[in-house]
Amino acid sequence: MKRTHWWWLSGLVVLLTGLWLGGGTLIATTLRQDGLVNQLATRVASPHGQTPLEPIALAHPLQPVYYYHFANAEATEFRALFEEAVTVFNRTGIVQLQPGMARAGQNSLTFFTYRDAGTQRSDFTELGKGGPHVIQTRQGTVNQARAGVNLAHPELRPRLSVAIHEIGHAVGLAHSTAKTSVMTARDHEQEWLSSADLAALRLLYGPGHV
Ligand SMILES: [Zn+2]
Repeated sequence: MKRTHWWWLSGLVVLLTGLWLGGGTLIATTLRQDGLVNQLATRVASPHGQTPLEPIALAHPLQPVYYYHFANAEATEFRALFEEAVTVFNRTGIVQLQPGMARAGQNSLTFFTYRDAGTQRSDFTELGKGGPHVIQTRQGTVNQARAGVNLAHPELRPRLSVAIHEIGHAVGLAHSTAKTSVMTARDHEQEWLSSADLAALRLLYGPGHV
């Protein structure tokens, strides 16, 4: 066999090994950044009266159980805040967020803190970011979700409403224009899920999802 063929073959082997070791194929990823003002993202209307869904989450049936952990020491300092937000979701009975590391084939939720003062302007300060990251593994479709709060925000402590909102993104909710939703792009310090938020969660995780 010619030398060039060997090069081609070894390249293919490296590529396939990489895919196999990676353990999953990326389907899609979304990580929304949230500020006090985020006009573009609010223009997504909900056709069915429920909070809009992240399209990638809707396209792939997701398991309702998530295992959460803290990505950095600073995030662990805010464990109580994140866990209060976790309680809001667990109370719904639709999704279940449990402490611990996800094993292969299980959904994970990573809580993190970060400092980004770069987005600060007079009318815009980023509060947090979060979103789903859906991959296909040999064990099925898995969401490796993330939710984080920005500690560079001028407020002394991150808001519970923001933690709830970012978990909302992580499990598949998108921005809503409904003032009663926790998923409005502009934070209004709401610390509960609206009936439209719950309807969206049921659509993603409830029985009958296809
Ligand atoms: Zn948002």
